Amino acid sequence: MVDINIPAEAAYILEKLNENSYAAYIVGGCVRDAIRNENPKDWDITTSATPQQVKEIFDKTYDTGIRHGTVTVMVGNSAYEVTTFRIEKSYQDYRRPSQVIFTSDLLEDLKRRDFTMNAIAYHPKEGLIDPFNGRGDILAKLIRCVGNANERFQEDALRMLRAVRFSCQLDFQIDTTSFDAIIENNELIVKVSMERIREEINKMLLSDFPSNIFVMKEAGLMEYILPELDICFATSQNHPYHIYNVGSHILKAIESIEKDPILKWVMLLHDIGKAITKTTDSKGIDHFYGHGERSVILAQKALKRLKFDKKSIDKILRLIKWHDRPVEPTPKAVRKAVRAIGEDIFIDFLKIKQADMMSQNPVFLTKRRSELEKVYKVYQTIKQSRQCLTLKDLAVNGDDLLALGIQKGRMLGVILEKLLDIVIANPEKNQKEILLDIVKKHEWEVGSR
Ligand code: ATP
Ligand code: MG
Repeated sequence: MVDINIPAEAAYILEKLNENSYAAYIVGGCVRDAIRNENPKDWDITTSATPQQVKEIFDKTYDTGIRHGTVTVMVGNSAYEVTTFRIEKSYQDYRRPSQVIFTSDLLEDLKRRDFTMNAIAYHPKEGLIDPFNGRGDILAKLIRCVGNANERFQEDALRMLRAVRFSCQLDFQIDTTSFDAIIENNELIVKVSMERIREEINKMLLSDFPSNIFVMKEAGLMEYILPELDICFATSQNHPYHIYNVGSHILKAIESIEKDPILKWVMLLHDIGKAITKTTDSKGIDHFYGHGERSVILAQKALKRLKFDKKSIDKILRLIKWHDRPVEPTPKAVRKAVRAIGEDIFIDFLKIKQADMMSQNPVFLTKRRSELEKVYKVYQTIKQSRQCLTLKDLAVNGDDLLALGIQKGRMLGVILEKLLDIVIANPEKNQKEILLDIVKKHEWEVGSR
């Protein structure tokens, strides 16, 4: 019998429910992860007790999703989701069921689950309840639909993306029959809300095997969700810096960046403007002039379509816009770069540049990386010596200019920006008297209110 080491609180909840003559099991992702010898992040419980009955048994509960049968039970400081065995009925429009029926039959509950690996229940006294050989599939690293794959994807089209997402998280393959059923039904993905699609892609990007996102391309889902990325896989790059087509370069890039959602999306979209900017010169070398700007335009459309919040969109687009900007490792060049790109995202900019070069021709990697390392060191020195990089570091402010007789308005801002340019080029000039002197001498600026 397979033994799973479950937390004492979860065991307590099972016992309490059993004492009250209800069936209760650990179920879903946690059983799957335990079989994989991974630590489950949360332990879900399924029971024959109705939500009302669960609430009567335990002192402290929250109504998490009563309509779907879920009650959160608190044991000490730990929260456990306890969900009533259920059958899902009348799927409409290829989305979630409109009707949920509670049942006392565990098998019925397991049947409605998406994949065999997610349809295993466990009880310390009974061991695994595994009617679809989910354990066998886990050991074979296979994602396989419970029951008829075609029907399951038609009931809920999101499952197609969940399959790809699990492939990214677990590095499992989708079983052939289930994969063929995705191909058969891929156009149904447009029925799923953009928010849910975005969250699945987020999970893919933040997973341990993000380049398995390619499965989304192979299954024909990407052309509906991110067509601008889809065509990148058909865009070759004949250029000494590159050894991959644009799509494969992007896959490498999402692998090479740290697990931060914004940076992952930047890498996913940073080069999508390449497909439409490609030109080939007389020597047969490909160029992608202005692709950064085009990537920004396409990325903005994609991110809006996926219903991203404005703050995330702004940051992602700024980083995409600058990703190809060269920076010399000299103090002046770095200060100029910080001024142009923005202090708030400069470190992120260096991170994406590194991920980008790690996904290009490895022949140049050592040299380019050491250049970037130098830029980083120069930036650190600039920060440590508190050199002026932004308006707020400038030795004069708006009030100083008002005191000189300059009136409030656009010109005030223009002058401050000009002073900042001067100081970025010559840090020693960041002194109040020197700067005010410069302003006084520029009569035309002071005069034109
Ligand atoms: P994670 O580690 O991401 O939480 P999980 O397997 O727990 O993985 P959840 O989305 O939390 O995934 O869902 C819990 C369980 O509910 C799944 O294991 C699966 O049995 C079932 N489930 C979730 N979504 C669906 C769906 N769309 N169709 C069928 N069953 C589903
Ligand atoms: Mg879960």
